[in-house]
Amino acid sequence: MTATIHRALVTGGAGFIGSHLCDALLDAGHEVLVLDDLSSGHRENVPSGVQTFRALDLRDAAGVRAMVRDLKPTVVFHQGAQTSVSASVRDPLGDAEANVLGSLNVFEACVAENVGKVVFASTGGAIYGEVPAGQRATPEWPARPLSPYACAKYAVERYLDFYRSEHGLSSVVLRYANVYGPRQDPHGEAGVVAIFAKRLIAGSGIHINAMAEPGDDGCVRDYVFVEDVVRANLLALQGTLEGTVNVATGVPTTTRAIADGLVRALKVEAQIDAAGRRPGDLQRSVLEPTPALGDLVSLEDGTARTAAWFAESGR
Ligand code: NAD
Repeated sequence: MTATIHRALVTGGAGFIGSHLCDALLDAGHEVLVLDDLSSGHRENVPSGVQTFRALDLRDAAGVRAMVRDLKPTVVFHQGAQTSVSASVRDPLGDAEANVLGSLNVFEACVAENVGKVVFASTGGAIYGEVPAGQRATPEWPARPLSPYACAKYAVERYLDFYRSEHGLSSVVLRYANVYGPRQDPHGEAGVVAIFAKRLIAGSGIHINAMAEPGDDGCVRDYVFVEDVVRANLLALQGTLEGTVNVATGVPTTTRAIADGLVRALKVEAQIDAAGRRPGDLQRSVLEPTPALGDLVSLEDGTARTAAWFAESGR
């Protein structure tokens, strides 16, 4: 049996996760199109094999519609988003314009042009709220979105229910945990692996924001390597993953464990300071992984690969 070749539109394909997804789709022989306004992504992240790149804002309904009409993708991987939780707190309207209305522009175009499937990048790290010690959130957990960013992602999931029942638009919702890996932006306030790697390579000190009190090991998160996130997207395309799925490891990891792992991987001496709690930070977020994802990259391996990439790329 020959594999189906898709014409895949990746929104946010110039970003961290989207660009890795483009690489994997091209490796698998698919045609790839990218829509990205380069607000947080970079043109040089987009692999040269991508057939069409359009610097387009998701909020531009006519532009999105024209791109889908002209290029006729068979599947859309909707990764493009305003991704900063704190920006969403400062500007809920701006967040909703990009993440809710921008998403609806994509789905309206998909319906109008009979796109077969949408795979949506949602957030497991933000939708479930606090996950008590000893527990892992499953997709059946009640949603407790606490930020405008999480509210928007959750709203878009519900809109996808509407587009499925009303228009027959097939979709898979992937709720990513805390994703890390090469090309992650080290300049934001999230993405602690990238931020620490960059600082440690530069010989700068790092600090551990407290979970409760300065000096503790920091917040607990579920760190998933970008390669596994990309694999989840491809499994969603094939139909192996369906419905709403956690893309996670289920392994609780403190910020201090991340710092220690990077110090080991980079073989550097580091000044690690204790800082206070950051307002708004969840204390603990750990998700039940999806068995269909199979073996996942270990934190040790993923951290070492990420550290090596930051050391080599100078980014
Ligand atoms: P990223 O910022 O690297 O990628 C987002 C991309 O979307 C960027 O290239 C950006 O330029 C583009 N974009 C933003 N607003 C746009 C707009 N209005 N029009 C067109 N393009 C726009 O972030 P990422 O970490 O690669 O995130 C990819 C997706 O995964 C996002 O939807 C994000 O919400 C989701 N997600 C990420 C994580 C994580 O830990 N990184 C966790 C959960 C969910």
